[in-house]
Amino acid sequence: MKKAFATLVGRACLRSGLLGFLDRRADTLSLARNGGTGPRLRWRKTVLTILVYHRVNDERDPFFPATPVDVFAGQMAYLASRFNVCRLDDALEGLRAGRLPGRALVITFDDGYRDNYLNAFPVLARLGLPATILLATGVIGSDRVLWHDRVFAAFRETRREALEGFVPDGGRLPLGTLAERLAAQREVLRHLWRVPDDRRTAEIDRLVERLGTADRTSIPGLMLSWDEVRVMHAGGIGFGAHTVSHPVLSMVPRARAVEEIRHSKETIECVLGAPVRAFAYPVGRRGDFTDETKQFLRETGYACALSTLPGVNGSEQDPFELRRLSPWDDDLARFGARLTLDRMFG
Ligand SMILES: [Zn+2]
Repeated sequence: MKKAFATLVGRACLRSGLLGFLDRRADTLSLARNGGTGPRLRWRKTVLTILVYHRVNDERDPFFPATPVDVFAGQMAYLASRFNVCRLDDALEGLRAGRLPGRALVITFDDGYRDNYLNAFPVLARLGLPATILLATGVIGSDRVLWHDRVFAAFRETRREALEGFVPDGGRLPLGTLAERLAAQREVLRHLWRVPDDRRTAEIDRLVERLGTADRTSIPGLMLSWDEVRVMHAGGIGFGAHTVSHPVLSMVPRARAVEEIRHSKETIECVLGAPVRAFAYPVGRRGDFTDETKQFLRETGYACALSTLPGVNGSEQDPFELRRLSPWDDDLARFGARLTLDRMFG
């Protein structure tokens, strides 16, 4: 009911041109939190919205939801007509120098799934939209998968009725229905994000065994090849690093974090022959990176780092803690309305 009402209001705003008007105003006037004393109206010069996508396909896989291709195409056409979609480095330079164009927006993709090339790149190329893909380099150009894909495959394929005693204090997680399997997967992921990185592989081995499925450590064609990376780079897509093996950086020893940060950058630079200045934190919530992580990134020559902390970025935003918005909704009216509201109140 609430969703239907939001759709109705979103459509009415879209048709009346109200969203376009608010998008233009959001660059100069927004509600901001005033040092914890509550919201206040203030003038601000620039607002940069950064969107984060992962997968774009029509598989309708509930265990790793993707943006359907027609929804993605609709969202990109909407952005092309209403926003100044910028290259990430141009946007950051503009933000720093106070010369950001109005309604500035950056499109990013994390991890490096092959559907970015097959399904997203043609849409971006047709509309002439720049974007940046942040690569977990250890799986690019190989059949190997990221650790979370092993977990998704196990929950997708399991026929067990329950998972017992796997998550500390988790008791018995029922797996009888799709909803139960998705709830159990969320619980297990929360546990795995907190496990020290050197124990995570063993934990996932244990999970796969308990769920009684084949261990999908390799899935041909899931991730980008380096040739596809080169083709997209020649077609105007920017590339950044997202570590080598996708660990939560705050959970790995210092030397390993430095290696993940440095090696991923060097690998992409070697393939593309161009400097890599952008980084995205795996998982990317508060606590998944530290001040020390930011320091390593600066010392390694990065200019910015993207989190998954929700919000938009003003000129005062720490470039090593950039905020991003997930493209929330398959309905275009709600997508537009929420984009506008986040720009005004984010
Ligand atoms: Zn990621």
